[in-house]
Amino acid sequence: MADRVFPEMKKNFGFGMMRLPMNGEAVDTEQVSKMVDLFIENGFNYFDTAHGYINGLSELAVRECLSSRHDRSEYLLTNKLTGEYFKKEEDIRPFFETQLKACGVDYFDFYLMHAQNAHLFEKFKKCRAYETAFDLKKEGKVRHVGISFHDQASVLDQILTEYPEIEIVQIQFNYVDYEDESVQSRKVYEVARKHGKPLLVMEPVKGGSLVNLPDDARKILDDLNGGSYASYAVRYAASFDGMEMVLSGMSNLEQMQDNISYMKDFKPLDQREMDAVKKVSDVFNSLGMIPCTACHYCIEENHCPVNILIPNMFDCMNKKMIFKTWNQDFYYKEVLTASNGKASDCVKCGGCEKVCPQHLEIRDLLEKVAQEFE
Ligand code: SF4
Ligand code: SF4
Repeated sequence: MADRVFPEMKKNFGFGMMRLPMNGEAVDTEQVSKMVDLFIENGFNYFDTAHGYINGLSELAVRECLSSRHDRSEYLLTNKLTGEYFKKEEDIRPFFETQLKACGVDYFDFYLMHAQNAHLFEKFKKCRAYETAFDLKKEGKVRHVGISFHDQASVLDQILTEYPEIEIVQIQFNYVDYEDESVQSRKVYEVARKHGKPLLVMEPVKGGSLVNLPDDARKILDDLNGGSYASYAVRYAASFDGMEMVLSGMSNLEQMQDNISYMKDFKPLDQREMDAVKKVSDVFNSLGMIPCTACHYCIEENHCPVNILIPNMFDCMNKKMIFKTWNQDFYYKEVLTASNGKASDCVKCGGCEKVCPQHLEIRDLLEKVAQEFE
């Protein structure tokens, strides 16, 4: 691997702590502790959290499973400033302090302005969020300042032009979104590189979609060297110049063991593998699936007044398209809507669409879900 821009990053694969294993409503901290230990034992050291992940439980899991059990020199920790937790400049520092406390640390290695898009960027500027983060860096409470980004490439160009001090950019990047017109993975990547910025990758397996592959796509990858479906997606993202770290939101020990097996001694995809994932991408694009990444932003903080499990509904719809079985009808009726809203209960308030980083037209999509399942 080429020399690291941040030599403190031991490897190019990080633990995204947004989809941790759960025991009912609580994080399965016993399993997370095992995952953390295995990760560190295998030479990895990058962990990523945010206050909104699992409604604040991710930060607490960081403290219980990582910071209270490992020396600070053994890990790097990234946290984020999320727009919905401040209204004015004066709110930012107190919020930041609660994040340090929740995670049980006295500094963050990376602090990212979270989910930047054109609208949120204006708010962050108005509240002097960037300036506050740069001050926190001067004070040693943050080692590096960056952004995570969800918008068109032109918006990234504007942000990096206005704030050249930004040190790193986290983007959504996977082989299906590479040429996608709304996510614009390739164009966003190219803008970051034009500004000389190193990158962090989120959603390399597209919220799990690149693991649950349609039959035609499975056949293509099965003909390669026997790696897991996730392995091709993660290695794809890590194969591009400037990708300092690829994050995976691992949900159990088995996923972590699989990821470690191919990222411990990382090898970029060779040409045959690159050709294969391009073909898989073509299969995906031909299915017209809903590009929801299951980030859950739309259903956190009571965004939906009628309590519709939006990401689960989209997943259900996608699975029906892929697997073409009746199981999804049963799941929709008996599980998803048994004690939550149905797709047809949507009152079209639009609250979910305002926070969707994929810019999905959720109201229209729910009409399609209702047509399919009700
Ligand atoms: S538009 Fe519909 S799905 Fe979205 S938050 Fe409002 S009621 Fe819920
Ligand atoms: S609909 Fe949008 S906000 Fe909701 S889970 Fe999917 S990608 Fe995230």
